[in-house]
Amino acid sequence: MLLALLACAATRVDSPPGIDTSTETSTEPLVIHGADVVGLGITSIMIQDGVIVGIGGADTTAGIDVSGRYIVPAFIDSHVHLAYLPEAAAMAEGGVAGAVDLAAPLSFLAADHAPLRLLASGPMVTAVNGYPTESWGRDGYGLECADTGAAVAAVDQLLAAGAGVIKLPVTSAPQLGDEAMAAVVQRAHGHGVRVVSHALADDEAAAAAAAGVDALAHTPTSSLSEATLGAWAGRAVVSTLDAFGGSSTAVANLRSLRTAGASVLYGTDFGNSRDAGIASAELMLLMEAGLSGEEILAAGTTGPADYWGFDKLGRVAVGRDASFLVLDRDPRVDPLVLAEPAQVWIRGERVR
Ligand SMILES: [Zn+2]
Repeated sequence: MLLALLACAATRVDSPPGIDTSTETSTEPLVIHGADVVGLGITSIMIQDGVIVGIGGADTTAGIDVSGRYIVPAFIDSHVHLAYLPEAAAMAEGGVAGAVDLAAPLSFLAADHAPLRLLASGPMVTAVNGYPTESWGRDGYGLECADTGAAVAAVDQLLAAGAGVIKLPVTSAPQLGDEAMAAVVQRAHGHGVRVVSHALADDEAAAAAAAGVDALAHTPTSSLSEATLGAWAGRAVVSTLDAFGGSSTAVANLRSLRTAGASVLYGTDFGNSRDAGIASAELMLLMEAGLSGEEILAAGTTGPADYWGFDKLGRVAVGRDASFLVLDRDPRVDPLVLAEPAQVWIRGERVR
């Protein structure tokens, strides 16, 4: 199974590089019952070997009683840097089961990030002396490309090394031309892999959209024009509002991007930010940007699971990982409870 996952990781969006979950010896099933499983109502969850094997209909005289509580899927953080801050276990204890790592040295693509399921870009595809090679990312966080041919070759190199997403910065530093950027996107899309851009200014976000980029790695921090907002309709934006200090311009941009038809993915830029797990500051800023509790929950679970192809995460459902949170309050009413889960289960193990 591991080989199958790795073999298709470079070429398919729906199978992020995973960690082998197969086990030789089967454990006894465990039933967790009494909670309101959000979206399903009060029911029981049967887990075995790290996976949800049944919902409802279980004998609930044995097992773990969590009556009066709520259960939701563990979160996916769509923007992290674990090479910066290798705290996968702390992320899991804080309620995160999956993440998208958006810049790391090439060797990181072969590393083990258990217990997280990780989709990783490896180094950004950038220009000679381009972002971030002259600043924080000088130690291998960018592949410097002189022309379109080199940029396309860089995509091939990354996919062969196990990248499941491509990061293409658009900044005021030396920058790949429009033709090279479009070629990078085309090559990645040809392999079923999405492209994400670091683009904080209006013209940069517009250029990323024109090149066919799928998602913004951050909510832009300078005001977006109507034309740029329109260009991002039907695409995605990773929130990372707290990473920029909760800038009111970024909060307003996220609100406008949603109105224009962009979808929001919860993300913290962990590594640059340092709050391991589901971050209350990010949740608060998402509320400020107009997301309801239900929408915040979706931005951290079903939304990124479907968008990135984490087919083992994002839902409490048979066949998915037993990765979920037990909460004292209803997160649809009080989303901040997500940052203080009473229990966290990751792949069938209680880690909190
Ligand atoms: Zn980042």
